[in-house]
Amino acid sequence: MLYSFSVTKEEQGCCTPQPKGKAACPECGEKAKGVLGKTVRHLLKDEAKSKLSYFDGFYYCKTTTCKVVYFRGDEILTQKDMRVVVGLKEGAKPATVCYCFEWSKEKIKAELEATGKTTALEDIKAKMENPGCSCEVLNPSGGCCLGDVSKAIKELELLG
Ligand SMILES: [Zn+2]
Repeated sequence: MLYSFSVTKEEQGCCTPQPKGKAACPECGEKAKGVLGKTVRHLLKDEAKSKLSYFDGFYYCKTTTCKVVYFRGDEILTQKDMRVVVGLKEGAKPATVCYCFEWSKEKIKAELEATGKTTALEDIKAKMENPGCSCEVLNPSGGCCLGDVSKAIKELELLG
């Protein structure tokens, strides 16, 4: 895996157990996927970080109408704890879909309006090859954005 900036050996995660399984969000009840501790650690504001002694064991709630971003048992982290705007939550501005290469629903919509198509997927795929992506530390989901980007494009094309 390539990173666009240098990371320490510890952060490459060769020994980090990947979170397995899902847990139900305490707020909306939807099943949520686990995220790596390093994802949470990179994306939280210092103030939120100072209240946690470790960052492993959190789950990421994708429900657009749910205020919960991460949860671990009764511990809940929301947008106010985050360094980035969580683009998939209702009312997010910008509605970022790709955090590595800064594609938002606004940018895709503008492109669709101007040219009738969007280069988002091609651009992201090309940049994933070179310089490489850093979803693990930039995307709140900790994973690849391509599914979310495709979904956003379909939604916007239907609206247009
Ligand atoms: Zn939720």
